[in-house]
Amino acid sequence: MSTVGEEYGQFAKYSCNGGTMTRTTIATREGTTTRLPEETVEAFRRDLRGPLLSPADTGFEEATRLWNGMIEKQPALVVQPTGTADVVTAVNFAHDHDLLLSVKGGGHNIGGTALADGGLTIDMSRLRGVLVDPEARTVTAQAGCLLGDVDRETQLHGLATPLGFISETGLAGLTLGGGFGYLTRRFGWAVDNLLEVEIVTADGRVRRASREDHEELFWAVRGAGHNFGVVTSFTFQLHEIGPTVYGGLIAWPAERSDEVLETYRRLTTSAPRELTAFLILMRAPPAPFVPAEAQGKRIVAMTVCYSGDLADVEEVLAPIRSLDDPVVDLLQEQPYTRLQSSLDATEPKGMHYYWKTEFATELTDDLLSTLDELSTECPIPMAQLVVIHLGGALNERDESDGAVGNRDVRFVYGAAGMWEPDEPQAEQFRQWVRDAWKRIRPFSTGSTYINFQTGEESDERIQVTYGDNHDRLVEVKTAYDPDNVFRSNRNVRPTETHVS
Ligand SMILES: Cc1cc2nc3c(=O)[nH]c(=O)nc-3n(C[C@H](O)[C@H](O)[C@H](O)COP(=O)(O)OP(=O)(O)OC[C@H]3O[C@@H](n4cnc5c(N)ncnc54)[C@H](O)[C@@H]3O)c2cc1C
Repeated sequence: MSTVGEEYGQFAKYSCNGGTMTRTTIATREGTTTRLPEETVEAFRRDLRGPLLSPADTGFEEATRLWNGMIEKQPALVVQPTGTADVVTAVNFAHDHDLLLSVKGGGHNIGGTALADGGLTIDMSRLRGVLVDPEARTVTAQAGCLLGDVDRETQLHGLATPLGFISETGLAGLTLGGGFGYLTRRFGWAVDNLLEVEIVTADGRVRRASREDHEELFWAVRGAGHNFGVVTSFTFQLHEIGPTVYGGLIAWPAERSDEVLETYRRLTTSAPRELTAFLILMRAPPAPFVPAEAQGKRIVAMTVCYSGDLADVEEVLAPIRSLDDPVVDLLQEQPYTRLQSSLDATEPKGMHYYWKTEFATELTDDLLSTLDELSTECPIPMAQLVVIHLGGALNERDESDGAVGNRDVRFVYGAAGMWEPDEPQAEQFRQWVRDAWKRIRPFSTGSTYINFQTGEESDERIQVTYGDNHDRLVEVKTAYDPDNVFRSNRNVRPTETHVS
């Protein structure tokens, strides 16, 4: 055996009985590599209905491309299941050969946890079916869905469930970490609306988990769900939404940041649950909707969604309308699905991304002025200082209602940098984000969204994020995944005696 770093992703050629036999070098869970004989890999391939790809195969590159171009990881093998049976076959194969396993949903995780270097990846991208039951107001979506797949089908019936703001994000990764979006203030975390999952656990068994069956597993999946198996489908409660809502982007020159920030605080203190507004401090992009003279200049913007009675929209948005002369004003009635994808172009796949975020319960003067100062000083042309508006229904449940916790949270805030893959100042930019993080951390609850954490954030941060729910998570992990098969994530470890 040799180390993963030495050999991952390669094919080793061996002389065998005078002929040549190809073996696949693949990473194990212990951090070493093993060589799988060709007949073992071929038998695995025959047991699958979907493709099994290695680096030389067409489709491998696409299957292993991540949203964050900064992450360079290459698995040795990728399975693309066409159904739950393929997932079971892959989990059993990984288990039997002690292979390092990862699961890819939409590939949007900032830390690139969908791929494990040198290991076996289960890429769920072929499983994108969505079934809506308009009578029961539920939707069942397969785990390879992107958010836009689900919104598109549910909106046919004027229904929706809270999902995130970028339609290309994976449903699975987002939901399993909690999930929030424009409807969270009305209906809570995405997992507060989750009714059932189908999941293949580490022992290869297919289970349906809900509040009635495998309750502890279901509890754990609702916030730490990357740790317990491969979820193959999600069933959510739906709510009447749209099909049109009121919203979009509105922005003012940064010189007016004091009054905009103060208005934002007032707005978010008194906003009805039907209103969600984000704050973004950034340089205006060279987009057609930005006047030429404002492009490249610093702006303070809000992106807004009002999903309530449109007759009340002017009253609800009055604080925003009191800020006259915006430099950009795209607020309008529009289809919910359009609003849900309106920010997609701002986060293109393959750019390099680096961010640090925190949870907050209030927007203090010091927090807002620190964000404003950081925006003024920021050397990264495509950076954003952001405040995401949460609270509302999310705050109403008990801390122990699902593993997700953080029921006191009203905002996520942070610093996010984006740059081209060949950016010569990349390391300085990363350092700037780290330094900015030091300045914004004092305003934090101490915790942040598990799905926004990067690999370099400590294990302690995971424990703090789950808080009082962490010990219970360890118990569920030990019961369902004692060997920590599902470890390519923000990892909840089983108790010591079981860790391989
Ligand atoms: C541009 C952008 C916008 C975002 N906006 C939001 C937002 O509005 N709201 C929000 O809540 N979050 C948001 N996020 C964060 C998002 O929730 C995470 O990035 C999440 O990981 C994306 O899910 P994915 O399936 O694309 O991830 P992937 O990178 O594919 O996977 C992430 C993790 O989930 C695990 N996983 C994936 N599929 C499965 C499965 N079927 N079973 C078990 N484990 C699985 C993977 O192993 C991995 O550890 C955003 C992220 C980005 C990059």
